[in-house]
Amino acid sequence: MAIKRDYYQILGVSRNATDDEIKKAFRRLAFQYHPDHNKEPGAEEKFKEINEAYEVLSDPEKRANYDRYGQPVAPGWGFKGFDFGGFGDIFEAFFGGTTTTAQRVPQKGADLQTRLVISFKEAVFGCQKEVELERVEVCASCYGVGSHPGTNPQKCPECSGTGQVRRVQQSLFGRFVNITTCHRCHGQGTVITNPCSQCHGTGRHKVKRKVTVHIPPGVDDGQQLRLTGEGEAGFFGGSSGNLYINLSVRPHRFFQRDGENIIYELSINFAQAALGAEIEIPTLNGPITLSVPPGTQHGKILRLKGKGVPHLNDKGRGDQLVRISLVTPKSLDERQRKLFEELAKILPQPELPKE
Ligand SMILES: [Zn+2]
Ligand SMILES: [Zn+2]
Repeated sequence: MAIKRDYYQILGVSRNATDDEIKKAFRRLAFQYHPDHNKEPGAEEKFKEINEAYEVLSDPEKRANYDRYGQPVAPGWGFKGFDFGGFGDIFEAFFGGTTTTAQRVPQKGADLQTRLVISFKEAVFGCQKEVELERVEVCASCYGVGSHPGTNPQKCPECSGTGQVRRVQQSLFGRFVNITTCHRCHGQGTVITNPCSQCHGTGRHKVKRKVTVHIPPGVDDGQQLRLTGEGEAGFFGGSSGNLYINLSVRPHRFFQRDGENIIYELSINFAQAALGAEIEIPTLNGPITLSVPPGTQHGKILRLKGKGVPHLNDKGRGDQLVRISLVTPKSLDERQRKLFEELAKILPQPELPKE
C-alpha cells in the first residue's frame, strides 16, 4: 500500500484528539464530500480518504497501531473498494436516516367507481337507484380483528409486540441500530394463531352490496356523484374510501337539454305562422297550450319560463325553449293549390337586399 497523507491531517484533528472530536470531524467532512451532493472533481477521492482515515482512527486498536507503526501494512483491514449504492444506507443510518416506521397508522380505504344509466326525466326530477357492487368490508364475523370469534390475537414472538425489529449492525463508521418493521406481524405487534374462517385472518372480506343512490334533481350526463364512506374499508381504523357514481343520461325522444333549459322543436305551417295559432305542446310537467303569435318567423324561439330543469342544489328552474320550424308542404291537393295560387298573386315579394 502506498504511503498516504497523515490520517490526523486528513480529518483536521490533532494527534491527541478524543474519539468524540474525531467522530465530529468525520461527520462534518463526510457530509461535505459525500458524492451524493458534492459533484466537484476530486470530491469522491477525498471522501474515500476521509473514510479510510476514520476507519483507522475510530478503532482504538487500529489507531494505536497507526500511531506506533504509521501506515497500515497488514492486509485485511485496509480500506477496500467502494459501493456507493450500499454505502448510502450506512451513511444515512450513521446520520440518523434508516429508521423504518411501523405501518400501523390508520389508512383510508380505496375509492370505488361505477357507472349508472338513468333516463332523461330521472335526471331532471331526481330519483333513487340501487347500484350493485363488490367491495372490501371489515369482516362482520370477527369485526376486523382477524381472529376466530372468541379468541384473541397473540403477541408477536418475533418483536415481542413492538412491531419493530432492532438490529445492531457493524459498519465502517462503527455500530448503529437499524430499526425495521417486523416481518412476522407487519408492524402490528400481534399475530393471529386461530384465524377467522370468514376472512382467513385478514379482518376484511369482499362482499356484494346494493347501495342506494339518491340522485338529486337537475343532474346531467357526464356528472359524478360522490357517496362518502361507501368505498372500501380502511386499514387500522382508517376511514372508508368513497364511492363515485358516473352518470350517463339516456337521450329523450323529443326534448333536448341545454344546461338548465329544455329545447323543444315545434313544426308549424305557413297559415299558423301568418295568422298565429294555439297549439298543444308537451312540457316536462305535461301538455300545455302554446300561443304562437301572428307573423311568427322560421327559427323564432318562444320561451316558457320555469318549465325547464330544476337548478341542481338550488331553488328555481330553467326554461323550456320552443324553436319554431316552418314546414313547407311537399304536395298540394287541388283546393290547396288554388288557394296558394290566389295568395301568390297578392302576396308581395319579401324585400331583397339592395346594392
Ligand atoms: Zn412482530
Ligand atoms: Zn373475520
